[in-house]
Amino acid sequence: MRRTRNAKIVATLGPASSAAAMIERLFLAGVDVFRLNFSHGSADDHRARAAAIREVESKHGRPIAILADLQGPKLRVGTFAAGPVELAAGADFRLQLDPVEGGARAVTLPHPEIFAALQPGTELLLDDGKLRLRVQRCDARSADTTVLDGGRLSDRKGVNVPGVVLPISALTDKDRRDLAAALELGADWIALSFVQRPEDVAEARGLIDGRAGIVAKLEKPAAIERLDEIIEVSDAVMVARGDLGVEMPAEQVPTLQKRIVRACRRRGRPVIVATQMLESMIDSPVPTRAEASDVATAVYDGADAVMLSAESAVGRHPAEAVEIMSRIIGQVEADPLYRQFIEASHSPNLPGATDIADVVCSAMRHAAALLPARVIVCFTYSGHTSLRAARERPEAPILSLTPLAATARRLALAWGVHSVQVADLTGAEQIEPVAAELSRREGYAESGQPFVAIAGMPFGRSGTTNLMRIGMA
Ligand code: PGA
Ligand code: MN
Repeated sequence: MRRTRNAKIVATLGPASSAAAMIERLFLAGVDVFRLNFSHGSADDHRARAAAIREVESKHGRPIAILADLQGPKLRVGTFAAGPVELAAGADFRLQLDPVEGGARAVTLPHPEIFAALQPGTELLLDDGKLRLRVQRCDARSADTTVLDGGRLSDRKGVNVPGVVLPISALTDKDRRDLAAALELGADWIALSFVQRPEDVAEARGLIDGRAGIVAKLEKPAAIERLDEIIEVSDAVMVARGDLGVEMPAEQVPTLQKRIVRACRRRGRPVIVATQMLESMIDSPVPTRAEASDVATAVYDGADAVMLSAESAVGRHPAEAVEIMSRIIGQVEADPLYRQFIEASHSPNLPGATDIADVVCSAMRHAAALLPARVIVCFTYSGHTSLRAARERPEAPILSLTPLAATARRLALAWGVHSVQVADLTGAEQIEPVAAELSRREGYAESGQPFVAIAGMPFGRSGTTNLMRIGMA
């Protein structure tokens, strides 16, 4: 089974999409990466979802990535005893550390750090900024607030305190437990929420120890200030527009999105554009025109992946959301202007950072365009060669061959990469025959059609992309 898209689809699983049949349907509709959101659900829920994903993977013979998203120091209200409540503007609402039956008058807020940082007049944003409260009176265990912007509030919605720095570690105790569970269930990517400093990523890297790639979620002003450093130490990045647009003014999000995508493409780090992409499809079977346009914009920008959150996790139309996302991507990528945008936004590597791999990949891109090649075949262990190829955003599809299942899965997130697990090569003389055979077998080229292959010698050592071959399938 082969997809013809370059941009990938990440879909979050949740109560609306946890049945094995639904997971298979979502995969068939176009999901490349399934996101397990550890902000919700138990470790058992996620383990069952992961098992169902692996079943689909082996049934269809295509590597699928599992992205485990750690909640991070996200502040959330507790639960409501009788379901969601309506908070009216002007009403009093109490937040307290001690457990309380949540209702229209009060809810638990189980974070002592927040009460320590509050002052009368501080504004709190709830549920991605949809509701706004102002603190009237507060102490170390509670705060009485007035509702400024009202609305519906339900279990465990997020709380942001913009402009207030909370002394909270990047990985909470819950994150450490969830990380262990995520690695245990075989997650390919671990997403870190509310990264503020490169050190946050380094800390997680020590714990993960190569067992998964790290996605830094950019959703804090502090992270934007150190954008390049954070991208440098991460394996991939998520433009987490939900919290980003709460922590910073919403009108800055489009500019930041473009800046982050550009910076990631420059370094060859996969970048995911996330949150509210098809938000209205939580209830509606069709997206708004603005949402369709938003997905298209991310694709024109050359993002590696676009993501569904609530649309697929708790929405009424998970499969339709994936189908529509896939169709929007297909439309954009068929537009001749798309190629022009992608070329125009291609930037060489950082000044002074050009290495042999860049030279080989640049040569590959030109050779593939001149021939024109039907396919670019990458031989890779760590995935490095294929990511460098994807960084070039070539017109021909990228067929990535690796002996490692973990690498094939991880690359499901990367722009334009189609992975196949193959036996290890024993020597460079195998590059051309194996590339030719797999190009034909995977449906990229017919006998006699040209391919460009790249690899790193010696095999098995990461970061050595140093060889290009041109051949006929
Ligand atoms: P979340 O992250 O869904 O875990 O909050 C994404 C975002 O903030 O956009
Ligand atoms: Mn977030």
